[in-house]
Amino acid sequence: MLEKLLILQDRDQKIRQIQLEVKTLPQQRKNLEAQLAANAATLESLKQRARQLEIERKKLELDVGVRAESVSRLKTQQYQTRKNDEFQALGHEIDRYENEIRKIEDDELELMVLADKIKADLTAEETKAAATRDSIARQTADLDEKSKALESQLQGLTTERSNLATKIDEDLLARFERLFKSKGDAAVVAIEHGVCTGCHMKVTTATAAGVKAGKEIVNCENCGRILYDAQ
Ligand SMILES: [Zn+2]
Repeated sequence: MLEKLLILQDRDQKIRQIQLEVKTLPQQRKNLEAQLAANAATLESLKQRARQLEIERKKLELDVGVRAESVSRLKTQQYQTRKNDEFQALGHEIDRYENEIRKIEDDELELMVLADKIKADLTAEETKAAATRDSIARQTADLDEKSKALESQLQGLTTERSNLATKIDEDLLARFERLFKSKGDAAVVAIEHGVCTGCHMKVTTATAAGVKAGKEIVNCENCGRILYDAQ
C-alpha cells in the first residue's frame, strides 16, 4: 500500500516541480522582451541625436548664407560709393560679418565631427543590436520548446497520477493529499535510525515498532507525516 503511495508521491513531486518551472516562463519571456526594448531605445536615442545635430547644422548653414548675402550686398555698395568714410564703414561691416561667418563655420565643423562620431556609434550599436536580436530570437524559440516539453510532461504525469490514485484507498489518498499540500515537500517519509526524515525528530519506540511491523499506517507524532521503513 505504501509503495503505491510512494510512487504517487514521486509523480506529485514531479508535477509540482514542473508547475514551478512553468510559472517562471512568463518572467523569462518578459526579460527577453525588456532586452529588446532597451536595445530599440538605445538605437532610437542615437538616431534622435543624429537628427537633432543635422537640424542644428542646417540652421548654422542658413546663418552663414544670410551673412554671405549681406557681405555680397555690402561689397556692391562699397564698390558703388565714392565717399571714403562710407567705404570704410562698409568695410568694417563686411569684416564683422566675415568674422561671424568664420565662427559659425567653426561651430559647424564641430557639429560635423560630433555627427560622424554618433554615426559610428549608431553603426556599432546596430551591429550589436542585430546580434542581440538573433540571440533573443533563439532564446525565445528555446522557451517555446521548453514550454511545450513541460506541458507534455505535465500531461503524461497527470494521467499517470490519476491512474495511480484510483488504486489507492480513498481515505488514505485524502490523508496523503492533505499532508502533501500542507507540508510542501513530502507526505510520506522514511524513518531512519528511529528518526523521521521529514522533521528530523526521533520518534517513539512504539511508533518505530509500528512502522517496522508495517500492518497499519503510522504517522510521525511530531510532524504528522506518514512513515515507512527505509530498510
Ligand atoms: Zn516527522
